Amino acid sequence: MPDLQPSGPASLAGLGVSPGRTAGPCLRMAGPPALPAPNPVTDTGAELAVVGEALEAVAEDLRRRSAAVAGGGRGAAEILDALAMMADDPMLKEEAEQGVRDGLDAPHALDAAFARHREALAALGGYLAERAADLDDLKHRAVAAALGVPMPGVPSPGHPFVLVAEDLSPADTAGLGPDVLALVTVKGGPTSHTAILARGRGLPAVVACAGAAHLVDGTYISVDGATGEIVTGVTEEDAARVREQDSAERARLAATSGPGRTADGHPVKLLLNIGSAADLRPDGEGVGLFRTEFLFLDRKQAPTYEEQVTAYADVFTAVPYVVVRTLDAGTDKPLPFLGLPEEPNPALGVRGLRVDRVLPDVLDTQLDAIAEAARRTGAEAWVMAPMVSTPGEAAAFARRARARGIARVGAMVEVPAAALLADRLLREVDFLSIGTNDLSQYTYAADRQHPALADLLDPAQPALLRLVELCAEAGRAAGKPVGVCGEAAGDARLAPILAGLGVTSLSMAPVCVPAVRDALARHTLEECRELARAALDGR
Ligand code: PEP
Ligand code: MG
Repeated sequence: MPDLQPSGPASLAGLGVSPGRTAGPCLRMAGPPALPAPNPVTDTGAELAVVGEALEAVAEDLRRRSAAVAGGGRGAAEILDALAMMADDPMLKEEAEQGVRDGLDAPHALDAAFARHREALAALGGYLAERAADLDDLKHRAVAAALGVPMPGVPSPGHPFVLVAEDLSPADTAGLGPDVLALVTVKGGPTSHTAILARGRGLPAVVACAGAAHLVDGTYISVDGATGEIVTGVTEEDAARVREQDSAERARLAATSGPGRTADGHPVKLLLNIGSAADLRPDGEGVGLFRTEFLFLDRKQAPTYEEQVTAYADVFTAVPYVVVRTLDAGTDKPLPFLGLPEEPNPALGVRGLRVDRVLPDVLDTQLDAIAEAARRTGAEAWVMAPMVSTPGEAAAFARRARARGIARVGAMVEVPAAALLADRLLREVDFLSIGTNDLSQYTYAADRQHPALADLLDPAQPALLRLVELCAEAGRAAGKPVGVCGEAAGDARLAPILAGLGVTSLSMAPVCVPAVRDALARHTLEECRELARAALDGR
């Protein structure tokens, strides 16, 4: 396919995974630069100047990005400041300059100087050795600057833009500055963590858009995060109009408030999915999924007990009702500090609660920290485990949590085996929370990140809804709450169906709450049940 030029509108199809419409110039996330063959140096002075300018450009870019994300939580600004200081290191500059005086061109001199610093850091061991990988990132940036090509990583052009990437890691997405209008990725699926983080930030996002690979930097595009449509070649004026319309629709929905109710008043709690206190918004009836692993995604050292107490207490202080999920590490959310070995089939391996089989201290420390945070704040903590597969696992988890005085203990239903035995799980725990992202992945044997299998991952599929119904019925029989906290819960199309199946709460990215509230309020409970019957029949 030829590159898509700015002239003439054209439409590209992807999967809309985070609602909202916006438009603006697109910029691609560049990969590491390829180092060309060495150039003979004819003007040493000019080459020395390139070295200095490249290092300054890297440090300046990092400082600008740090200023842009300051106050956004998760220590992103601190990380960027630390990297800027590394790029400013006079010894590094001196070594690169010596390389030039010895006959290397600026890109090769920088490459060699960074490589030597990396080795030296790695040899020191411990925390410093862990920073060695950061030097590779800085090296790629400095070499790109010296070559005059875009620096790798998220661009920071100093104006709003739509970020286009092959794919985004959770760490890339977490550190995005406020000038990113929307995300468009070539890869990714509807329940990928890129999608989840985009929703968390209220950023429109389209994934699995093959055509995006050919977008030209600077082209104005419009992005519809609900339908997945991307229109190229829009004018600057069109772009401004699209942004205005989106603000008006957001304002209309934001004007709704109050608890979740069907048209005839049947309550369905509207809860929030968050990764830290910074994600909290003044809407919803509490937190239904606190993804604690999001606090520590970029960490190479285990978070301490005190650090965890503080992070949990921050949320408990702000919101009276919080369901904390214990760390869900593995597959597309690796936690480097756990040091887990690579596995051939990570989605089927030691992830979620299963990490406890090899590292029991991690769960013990976390449960201690949650219990202590609840004590300090006077909150009633609800705790649940991810990836529970059997009633035995649920019972063992419940024992350990209750031994610490944790008030309510639950299990996530993400594995079909757990849904099939929901009634027995509910003999062990106080509530269930259905993680439809993983439940659809494991029900349909379809990788949740796989763009070509998105139809199988659609939570409106009858087999998935049948499992949700099974859980909701078990909850009704036991008199215990059964909610949904996967991305399906934030889909306004599905909310009435899930209510009709009997779930008692929907937990979603804060940005989704107004549209879901609106959708529930349009149907009576009986209408929701009819919609659920039709969906179960595949009608
Ligand atoms: C899920 O699987 O639906 C879920 C809520 O957990 P996560 O998306 O964090 O894996
Ligand atoms: Mg999950």
